[in-house]
Amino acid sequence: MSAGLPAAVLTLVTELRKLPGVGEKTATRYVLSLMQRGAEGVEALGRSLAEVAAQVRPCARCGFLADAELCGFCADPSRDASVVCVVEGIADLVSFEKIGEYRGSYHVLGGAISALRGITPDRLRIGELVARVAQGGIREVIVATSADAEGETTALYVRKALEALDVRVTRPATGIPMGSSIEFLDAVTLMRALRGRREL
Ligand SMILES: [Zn+2]
Repeated sequence: MSAGLPAAVLTLVTELRKLPGVGEKTATRYVLSLMQRGAEGVEALGRSLAEVAAQVRPCARCGFLADAELCGFCADPSRDASVVCVVEGIADLVSFEKIGEYRGSYHVLGGAISALRGITPDRLRIGELVARVAQGGIREVIVATSADAEGETTALYVRKALEALDVRVTRPATGIPMGSSIEFLDAVTLMRALRGRREL
């Protein structure tokens, strides 16, 4: 359906298709809708994207999105910095926040260990987590990686990496169906899993 469109439009369709859940049809619809808003509308989106690219970077402590050295969670003095919830990606962190109950801090690994996809532990922010715990002041690390093979492997690796340190390592257990990605769990299931966490 995008045949005959100018090359620049096709490039934009290709970029949008890299987003989750966006196929060629949806991407083309987005682009055509944007074009209808005129050059001003397209430029506003372009400026917004450029601003995000220029200003947003990983938080120096937890790896979440930040526009300063620390993200909003790490910089918030009302959050409990002695509890750290370890997640695979930033979308998982957003899911945890939706519960509205967790008041601790976070650590984003940037993925899960996967032999299939060539993701080795050194490509994840596990070293940063160990360094963070080694600095002291952290009493519990909740390893909230996904309940699939890669998430379980990662959780065990994280536990082993923290073994020599004086910290409680737990994992949300109850209620997370095997094979589930944290990102797609509803808040109630996630809240139950968090409350029912056990020693890993
Ligand atoms: Zn942070």
